[in-house]
Amino acid sequence: MGKKYDVVVIGAGNGGLMAATKSALAGKKTLLIERHNIPGGSATSFVRGRFEFEASLHELCGIGPYIEGGRELKKIFDELGISEKIEWVTLYEAFRMITLNDKENVDYTLPTTRKAFIDKVEEYCPGSREKCEKLFDIIEEANAGLDYLGTIQNFSTDIFKKIFGEYSDFINCAGYTVNELFDALDLPKAALFHDV
Ligand SMILES: Cc1cc2nc3c(=O)[nH]c(=O)nc-3n(C[C@H](O)[C@H](O)[C@H](O)COP(=O)(O)OP(=O)(O)OC[C@H]3O[C@@H](n4cnc5c(N)ncnc54)[C@H](O)[C@@H]3O)c2cc1C
Repeated sequence: MGKKYDVVVIGAGNGGLMAATKSALAGKKTLLIERHNIPGGSATSFVRGRFEFEASLHELCGIGPYIEGGRELKKIFDELGISEKIEWVTLYEAFRMITLNDKENVDYTLPTTRKAFIDKVEEYCPGSREKCEKLFDIIEEANAGLDYLGTIQNFSTDIFKKIFGEYSDFINCAGYTVNELFDALDLPKAALFHDV
């Protein structure tokens, strides 16, 4: 049978869309197959009545005005030449959480940026600052580690040395679930807004 495509990508979520786009831009004859009736996967939305719901993805980190120099995600949009075509909306609040329970009804709003976020958690849950700082250190190291992994073209022993040397916390945490990490750091439940 004659070869009709150089590359076949199955699934048009963010991953598949990116893979197929890069393949096509590299001049490969590319087929992208999606079983749903629209592309986007988890990044799609659906409408019920007068409301539109996000299937999952609701914001992109590493894009906004607080990111100095731009992380890998921003570079991907730049590389594809679409950064300027997207109407970006800055989110000044990371999230708002409303909980109704027997003890207390709470309405917590957490701002974006590390310092403002941790200050607010400390305000809501005094004594949690140090552990939150450690959590953010690990998150930032994981982000830097992932960014670095994304830049690797060919593996060599030096790369492993760098990964294990500079991103050791990232490697140590890679096998843990988020909740296991929270437990290991002994973060107060209230700081995770579990027990309020
Ligand atoms: C609740 C939730 C909230 C999230 N919030 C955020 C957020 O705020 N910010 C963020 O950056 N990320 C967020 N994420 C993560 C992000 O949404 C996903 O990591 C990303 O969208 C996954 O993309 P993907 O291409 O890997 O997979 P998917 O989006 O799952 O795409 C897979 C695609 O493959 C198709 N497919 C599967 N099997 C076949 C087949 N056999 N034939 C044809 N097609 C097939 C599916 O229909 C789907 O379209 C969130 C995830 C969840 C679950």
